[in-house]
Amino acid sequence: MSFIIPFFIFALALPLYAQSDKPVELVLYSSRNSDLLQPVLKAYQKETGVVVRHIEGSAGSLVQKLVREGDKSPADLLITVDVGHLIHGAQSGLLEPLAANEMTQRVPVHLRDDQWQWLGLSLRARTIFYNKKKVKPQELVSYQDLAHPKWKGRLCLRTSRKVYNQSLVAGLIGRLGQAETEKVVKGWVSNLARPVFTSDTHLLEAIDKGRCDVGIANTYYLARLQKKGEAQNVGIFWPTQDNGGTHVNISGVGILKTSKNKQQALRFVNWLVSDSAQKVFAEANDEYPVVPLVPLSKLIQSWGPYHMDTTPLSQIGEHQKQAVQLMDRARYR
Ligand code: FE
Repeated sequence: MSFIIPFFIFALALPLYAQSDKPVELVLYSSRNSDLLQPVLKAYQKETGVVVRHIEGSAGSLVQKLVREGDKSPADLLITVDVGHLIHGAQSGLLEPLAANEMTQRVPVHLRDDQWQWLGLSLRARTIFYNKKKVKPQELVSYQDLAHPKWKGRLCLRTSRKVYNQSLVAGLIGRLGQAETEKVVKGWVSNLARPVFTSDTHLLEAIDKGRCDVGIANTYYLARLQKKGEAQNVGIFWPTQDNGGTHVNISGVGILKTSKNKQQALRFVNWLVSDSAQKVFAEANDEYPVVPLVPLSKLIQSWGPYHMDTTPLSQIGEHQKQAVQLMDRARYR
């Protein structure tokens, strides 16, 4: 008996999918940073024996690479850090619709493609930040309101070349229409305190030092600074709470049409939306899990609850091109 029990436990611990001679391996093309993915990939390997080999690159270059490689591509999955790139991948005919099942259905409808070509894995809010010494939160309302002349010489923005801002403006087009959004973006440009930034981190540092009074950035960049004890003067504000909610975006995944391991790839995706994987995936980058009720880190909890915009991200993606042209016309560089 004393022999049988340990053997039984050992058998249970055997990797679930590594029972054939050939070790199972999945290839993941990803624009999510290696350091952020490693904890998740390691946990998956530990649990299942499946190695997920990760090839990192910018989303644009990975999509091009996939188009170039065609049927010969070794990749099984694509992860990007903005829905715009996943939609681009889907429009390029690269993605295989995922099977809807009890796991993938854990992801709220607005954070997944209605054709199931992609699925959100973690959530980031692109919200308003302010210098606590110079601005009272009561003065803030919405993204649109940052176009008001009262913010002249006080607003800071990251470049419009960054897909995060393209998605934000695409969301505004969906909500306000083109003409109104163009007025808003022109207003932002005329309110700029300094030339556009190349990174959200630099923007938040400038708010902290009082070089800008308000600005727009993704939440996890504040978390990174707060963990180092920085950005003490930066406050977080959730805009548009009574009227549509704060703009959110996802890190998300799609299975590639040319994958030779689609079943394995789907198992991995199903696992990624389990409670335990959601926690690891989101916490690695101080993001929100996409699956409701997965516990948030203490730091994120300290920012308080907010209403997010629940417009389907696939609809936001439809306005992405218009957003780029609109920002160009408004001379938002
Ligand atoms: Fe980012």
